Amino acid sequence: MDPVRIELGERSYDILVGSGLLGQAASYAGLPRAAAALIVTNETVQPLYARQLREAIAPHYRTVHEAVLPDGEKFKEWQTLNLVFDALLANGCDRKTVIYALGGGVVGDMAGFAAASYMRGVPFVQVPTTLLAQVDSSVGGKTAINHPLGKNMIGAFYQPQRVVCDLDTLRTLPPREFSAGLAEVIKYGPIADLAFLDWIEANIDALLARDVDALAHAVRRSCEIKAWVVGQDERESGLRAILNFGHTFGHAIEAGLGYGEWLHGEAVGCGMVMALQLSRRLGGVDDAFVARVTRLIERAQLPVRGPALGADRYLELMRVDKKAEGGEIKFVVISPPGRAVVQGAPDAMVRDVLAACT
Ligand code: NAD
Ligand code: MG
Repeated sequence: MDPVRIELGERSYDILVGSGLLGQAASYAGLPRAAAALIVTNETVQPLYARQLREAIAPHYRTVHEAVLPDGEKFKEWQTLNLVFDALLANGCDRKTVIYALGGGVVGDMAGFAAASYMRGVPFVQVPTTLLAQVDSSVGGKTAINHPLGKNMIGAFYQPQRVVCDLDTLRTLPPREFSAGLAEVIKYGPIADLAFLDWIEANIDALLARDVDALAHAVRRSCEIKAWVVGQDERESGLRAILNFGHTFGHAIEAGLGYGEWLHGEAVGCGMVMALQLSRRLGGVDDAFVARVTRLIERAQLPVRGPALGADRYLELMRVDKKAEGGEIKFVVISPPGRAVVQGAPDAMVRDVLAACT
């Protein structure tokens, strides 16, 4: 299959999507050569896939090192990031060293940020192993770690040299994590591509059964849409914000319940239902469209009713969101189906939506 190209001038790169790519030397052809490579992964993914990756890239480097991090969002922070720098420095890695991020979005964000800052920047390759990472976090060059006072607050825009999405790795993903990734796939339909929405509806059972052909299309089309958006707005000065459809409400759910209670994708699934209800009240979509997408989110085994935090608490949490401007909450609103705009909404309307959805 042809790669998906992300066009960013001299920072352009390919996204490879397919079955069995991780362990094939050809997946890594043409990447920068160096004396050493470092695989950054975690304790869960390392035993599953590190050996395959190591064997495939070994011909290109004199030595391949590994940094195996503890597993979990709570380790996406400074102390754990330092383990990557420890491995690089203890092994005498120079400024040409290539970093391979092998894992989900947590590993990808950390390895990417390490690559952006080690010796002011070394090349890195994303090898995402969760659905969410394949369709979202590994593409587009956002890297970050969390701070105790805020998620993803310390980071950099730094593009990888390549993204290698091996669909076979999704077979070992726990069902909840898989559904969470589907939320980000569904997201691309209402904001950008109604034909893709039709396709997801027709193929949701095949996707849930992890049929490789269905996964290939879902991952590929998601990456194409993300590449198209990021190609026009690499640093989120405008258009890129539409990728946050469902995320304003979703972040409030995540923060309100305490991070980790609901998975990010679960909160986004429910957040999209809320954002659609708001879009309907603002005149962007009709009842039938809201019902249709809500049903699809349900079929993806995602929650469609939010936790009862109370409307005041939701509003308070959304006002401190990174995307709010001067206290005005910004929502991604569908108008008309297949297109998204970023806008504010009256508090009374948001309260009405929350009453309907919690
Ligand atoms: P994750 O990285 O925590 O992975 C989820 C779980 O699955 C982990 O326990 C992981 O060890 C395990 N796992 C990974 N691959 C597996 C496999 N093939 N088989 C079995 N288990 C596997 O979570 P995620 O959902 O991939 O990513 C979430 C992170 O991504 C968040 O930190 C979020 O902030 C970030 N993110 C970043 C961007 C971006 O643009 N940079 C976009 C969206 C999300
Ligand atoms: Mg997201």
